[in-house]
Amino acid sequence: MSETASPLNTLRQSIAAACHQASRDPETVTLLAVSKTRSADEVAALADQGQHHFGENYLQEALDKMDALAERGLVWHFIGPIQSNKTRDIAARFDWVHSVDRLKVARRLSEQRPQTLPPLQVCIQVNVDDEASKSGVPLEGVAELAKAIVDLPNLTLRGLMAIPRADSDDHNRAAFRQLAMTLSQLRNTMPALDTLSMGMSADFGVAIEEGATLVRLGTALFGPRPAR
Ligand SMILES: *Cc1c(COP(=O)(O)O)cnc(C)c1O
Repeated sequence: MSETASPLNTLRQSIAAACHQASRDPETVTLLAVSKTRSADEVAALADQGQHHFGENYLQEALDKMDALAERGLVWHFIGPIQSNKTRDIAARFDWVHSVDRLKVARRLSEQRPQTLPPLQVCIQVNVDDEASKSGVPLEGVAELAKAIVDLPNLTLRGLMAIPRADSDDHNRAAFRQLAMTLSQLRNTMPALDTLSMGMSADFGVAIEEGATLVRLGTALFGPRPAR
């Protein structure tokens, strides 16, 4: 496939166009390639094209790919629900975790982060739609959890993440705006927070317009996911 026609390049162009539309510098938006269900070879092919950040939801699958690609210096982000019995491997092997939604998990990640590694970069996952079925802390619990996390020695709190209910662009725009406002309020007391992890294949343009600094793209990059 030629450089210009690859899905990665097409997406980079779409991200740049959305940034242009929103008068933002494309450098301020990181593309996270969501590689769940994808093979190590598929990840390697993207790495060959200069993609560094990869997002995974399933621990064992992720560890296998990390082992296969250990020499490549990739940056691994855990974006799936966290069971507390999985925190040790997550703390030891990932660079980022986007899905921290309770203090118990944050404490374990901090305690289990190996001292030889830099602090684990974390985002708080926010349940913007207040859906009972979804992970994430409710909006009104974000400030308290953030205050507790910044005191943990081996974590660096970077910002907020959300997965709005797959709905209309208008609904998702409102949810993204809510998340952006919540980050901006936190920044009054925690100015180092710099990350809004929001926007997926169907809505990343809207997310960028609303201030996303990291978009998590799977389907748009790899095509429809095979059944797991
Ligand atoms: C799977 C997943 C994505 C990617 O979704 P697409 O619609 O395929 O782009 C993004 N974020 C999270 C948390 C996911 O689980």
